[in-house]
Amino acid sequence: MAFFSKWIETSKLSLSILYRILMFSGLFTLVLTSVQLYIDYQKRLNQTLADAELVLESTRNSLTRAVYELNREQTNDIVSGLMKLPYYDSIKVLDSERGVVTYQENQTRKIARIETLTLIFNFSGQEIIVGSIEYGISTHQADSAIAENIYIVLLSQFIKTFFASLFIMYIIHRLVTRHIYDIANWLNTFKPEDSFTPLESLVAHDDKNEMLRLKAAINSMGKKVHEQTTSLESLVAKRTEALIQANTKLEALAFTDSLTGISNRAAFFNSASEELERSRRLNYEVGLMMIDVDHFKAINDNFGHDIGDEILQIIAKSMQGCLRKQDTLARIGGEEFSIITPGADKQGMHNLADRLQQAIANNDYSMLGKHKRVTVSIGYTKISADETMKTALKRADQHLYTAKANGRNQFVTDKELVYKLVNS
Ligand code: GH3
Ligand code: MG
Ligand code: MG
Repeated sequence: MAFFSKWIETSKLSLSILYRILMFSGLFTLVLTSVQLYIDYQKRLNQTLADAELVLESTRNSLTRAVYELNREQTNDIVSGLMKLPYYDSIKVLDSERGVVTYQENQTRKIARIETLTLIFNFSGQEIIVGSIEYGISTHQADSAIAENIYIVLLSQFIKTFFASLFIMYIIHRLVTRHIYDIANWLNTFKPEDSFTPLESLVAHDDKNEMLRLKAAINSMGKKVHEQTTSLESLVAKRTEALIQANTKLEALAFTDSLTGISNRAAFFNSASEELERSRRLNYEVGLMMIDVDHFKAINDNFGHDIGDEILQIIAKSMQGCLRKQDTLARIGGEEFSIITPGADKQGMHNLADRLQQAIANNDYSMLGKHKRVTVSIGYTKISADETMKTALKRADQHLYTAKANGRNQFVTDKELVYKLVNS
């Protein structure tokens, strides 16, 4: 029983099939049993009729004689004797000339049908109809036989039906629902990206059992889905990694000057605005420097564009060597460079301009011929807390212009920033 309750508990489908089988077969059993009982009942009634006829046949002669002899008392006695038997509901004896001789009935009985028997007296070979008997066949015997049987028949039929249903259910469970239950559970917990747990250790493909074949098919489909998902995931991871690397490269390229390898104009404005924001938050000063190569057109014109490029590379490299880690050097135009110097004071700015000039002047420009020198002009300023990058750039540019106008190879700055010049 514990076993039955276990599989009924685990399988809602089994339970609902069981209900339906029970309902249907219960109803069917009820109808069949009713038909069977009805047939039995009719048989019993026919038996009663046959018995009733047999008894009447045996008393017919004495009854005929009693009626013929107008012996009412004997007629009554014979009828009373008959009425004691369970076959009759009522008996009416009729004299063909005088009508009813006797009529007896049993009030407690029910009538099934009425039969008539003619009473014929054989007088010296001559047959005289003396009367007839009308007798009602009682349902009493059939009723009590059915009443005795009905409960036993019904109960046994229902017990039979119940156990047959349980057995059918058990078979359905073993062959079908158990597997459906397994499949549903497995599918519910199946995650293609996780490690693969087979649906069931299928010993062999049983070609005759569709449920096992279904399980095997789902299992192999799950395996394929799992393999494809994991390979797809690793492919996606690889591609993402490659994409990130390509993006990083692209980003670097987008912000790098291809000729000199230092930051380009876009990168310069990006880091300048970031630096400006940070400096205002943390309250430190930022210096801005513009550098332009002197008479560079002449270098190009005299030595060619390629040499000009080479010179720009040398200049960029030597300037980079003069900077601190936090400074940003960028090529913002043809032969124009710019530097952002966070936290630099006027002495620092001055020293840097000085170092830049010397570094650039000391480079090896032997491709331009002996003793050829390359110089730069510099304009620098401090970005004040309440101004934009644009206005600061404009001011630095004006200083650069002044340096050019004053004969080049020099640096110019705001009056308040001229430290060394004023003191020296
Ligand atoms: P100044 O002292 O007044 O600055 O004179 P300059 O000749 O340097 O001034 P100008 O702005 O007239 O000339 C700059 C030249 O730089 C013009 C252009 O041919 C050159 N140039 C700009 N970009 C490049 C580049 O990428 N490579 C090379 N080789 N030359 C460049
Ligand atoms: Mg120039
Ligand atoms: Mg220029």
